[in-house]
Amino acid sequence: MNDVLQGRALTKRFGHTVALDGVDITVRRGEAVAIMGPSGSGKSTLLHCLAGIMRPDSGEVWLMGQRIDTMRERERSALRRTRFGFVFQFGQLLPELPAEENVALPLMLGGVDRVRAVRQAREWFGPLGLHGMEARRPGELSGGQAQRVAIARALVSGPAVVFADEPTGALDQATGHDTMRLLVEATKHNGAGLVVVTHDPNVARFCDRVVEVRDGRLTGQAQGVPA
Ligand code: ADP
Repeated sequence: MNDVLQGRALTKRFGHTVALDGVDITVRRGEAVAIMGPSGSGKSTLLHCLAGIMRPDSGEVWLMGQRIDTMRERERSALRRTRFGFVFQFGQLLPELPAEENVALPLMLGGVDRVRAVRQAREWFGPLGLHGMEARRPGELSGGQAQRVAIARALVSGPAVVFADEPTGALDQATGHDTMRLLVEATKHNGAGLVVVTHDPNVARFCDRVVEVRDGRLTGQAQGVPA
């Protein structure tokens, strides 16, 4: 079975606002899926439900045959650390730590000792075009370099799925495209699924598939144009 992640009939309300209105979505191993739609359409809510950050009001979320939406917060938190990777709009790296320790952090949080974690983290710098950047603090990196560090941090634990929320939102167009290409390639290379939330069709086209969210519903699925 190639399905890594499945959302089934997901609903979520905030007061009178229906953020998700019965969403079914499947992500396969090594597949990159873009979630598009206007602001307020429910993209982030969908991502948060799929990633176990938020509980849907109804529906189910399955990760590789295991139902995760019913897990306790502690279990979901461990799952997010070990099975999921995250890339946000503004890298959200810790400014006081060198790049290599930022990448090593998920391993250290999982109990790997610092020396081993940093050694493992360093292996990501070459493939992501970050050679020589290991000791730099985030403030000493360009926006594109910082996002590559964030990509390394998302992948270092060998996640099943990487979630990215507007990962190129703070970058100029050329850097954004390089970053997307790298994010898709690196995620595929590691056999993980990728879920990218974006409002930008030029970002979405790097993915294998694009799903559109309108008023909390998926309105159709278009095949992405290969980059
Ligand atoms: P998008 O990511 O597409 O911009 P969201 O998923 O953030 O959309 O939001 C979907 C809808 O749910 C919007 O109407 C938004 O105002 C509402 N919403 C999202 N989060 C909350 C919240 N924590 N409290 C109240 N309303 C929220």
